Amino acid sequence: MSKFNTHQPVFNLLSEVAQQQQTRAFVIGGYVRDCLLKRDFRKDIDVVVEGSGIDFAKAVAAKIGKDVQVAYFKNFGTAMLKYDGLELEFVGARKESYQRESRKPIVENGTLEEDQARRDFTINALAFELFPLNEDVIDPFGGLQDLENGILRTPLAPDQTYSDDPLRMMRAIRFATQLHFTIEAESLNAISRNRERIKIVSQERIAEELNKIILAEKPSIGFKILFETGLLELIFPEMANLQGVDVVQGKAHKDNFFHTLQVLDNLCQTTNNLWLRWSAILHDIAKPATKKFEPGHGWTFHGHEDKGARMVPEIFRKLKLPLNDKMKYVQKLVLLHLRPIVLSKEEVSDSAVRRLLFEAGEDIDDLMLLCQADITSKNKEKVKRYLANFELVKIKLKEIEEKDRLRYWQPPVSGNDIMVSFGIKPGKEIGLIKAAIREAILDGIIPNEFGAAYAFMVTEGEKLGLVLQRRLETSISDSEPL
Ligand code: ATP
Ligand code: MG
Repeated sequence: MSKFNTHQPVFNLLSEVAQQQQTRAFVIGGYVRDCLLKRDFRKDIDVVVEGSGIDFAKAVAAKIGKDVQVAYFKNFGTAMLKYDGLELEFVGARKESYQRESRKPIVENGTLEEDQARRDFTINALAFELFPLNEDVIDPFGGLQDLENGILRTPLAPDQTYSDDPLRMMRAIRFATQLHFTIEAESLNAISRNRERIKIVSQERIAEELNKIILAEKPSIGFKILFETGLLELIFPEMANLQGVDVVQGKAHKDNFFHTLQVLDNLCQTTNNLWLRWSAILHDIAKPATKKFEPGHGWTFHGHEDKGARMVPEIFRKLKLPLNDKMKYVQKLVLLHLRPIVLSKEEVSDSAVRRLLFEAGEDIDDLMLLCQADITSKNKEKVKRYLANFELVKIKLKEIEEKDRLRYWQPPVSGNDIMVSFGIKPGKEIGLIKAAIREAILDGIIPNEFGAAYAFMVTEGEKLGLVLQRRLETSISDSEPL
């Protein structure tokens, strides 16, 4: 059996080019690592050549012939092309030295071994040669052993490695999370010692690694290491600030950091949606800011959902996450995250469910997933009881949704209908009447239909002293001119 699937045509191609060019060339990095770990089959192959990566890529492209698209990155000395459904990246072997103020190294041509030494982890430095094609792993730093033992270790001294390029600290934690590997002790200490160096890394790169941690199967692994090494405090202080327990009069509250991580891990079992996962991270973010001890009652966090939602834009801006509808979505989920739970604790009234459905709209299912993940307690009985009530809320939601179709709610009577009917111009009456109709529907006083809403509108208008000028049979759209 071929460890590296070298029977694929691409390897024959690369091997022939290496021979022709008389250049030593190797497959290195993620492809080698993931094949050995038998992880999902990878579609990207990194090739390192002792020579020019760009020239090598040109020769590969020439051999493939027509229709091949090559992207050259002259500044980095790399080139990329697609072949046979795979993404190939070529780079010249190099040795590097770093300046203190930047993660951009001074680069010189080097040998394979010099190149392997500048890689971040021994398990990412594994390589095999393309000509003659040979699946023996070239492993000068003990990466195979580390792969076997599940250890992340730097090829050179960890302090040097992390200080040279502090992004590697984030990468270490990201790989530890994705692969369930342990960061070797000296390395972990070096991350703590060098944590301040993270400041020279661009926020975009930090966010990229953070999102990869969040998309892993169990993101809490990464967040715990970020916290313990002191990196979290630097890159995402609001989250680090969730940690801690206060005790007053013998009463303690939950540690909101570990609670948040548990909610996140729970949620990850039901969704791969990055932004839904972010809403778990942020759902209690305002708990430290709203925390109060009320004598005779205990700890409260009144309004943390509201304040939390208001903190979301600033956090997204600082972390360089997108400031678009994704942010709005997270904001909405943070704002509403208590609502289904409140429902599950009391007698579930139709109108409360209707209101929730109306406010959550198309995100109701995601909100329910978040909320369900938020049911955590050391007391198993309590969790069971809450979950059972929660099921009732879900059933009720479904019933009412089928009956009232509030998920994509549009007012059955439009502002235009009101103006035409009473012969009035835009003004505050229209807003008042629309709000009254909406409330009546949500309270279940009238059904969500044109006929009933129209009759209700007539009465409401009359209360405001308006006189019906023209009776409508069906709604005319808001967009129609008067
Ligand atoms: P994945 O693609 O799953 O994130 P990967 O190992 O392929 O994993 P890449 O970021 O694609 O990671 O990088 C490819 C290879 O380049 C790595 O395996 C590693 O050898 C090297 N590398 C990437 N970034 C760094 C870095 N900051 N410092 C040192 N070596 C790095
Ligand atoms: Mg890669």
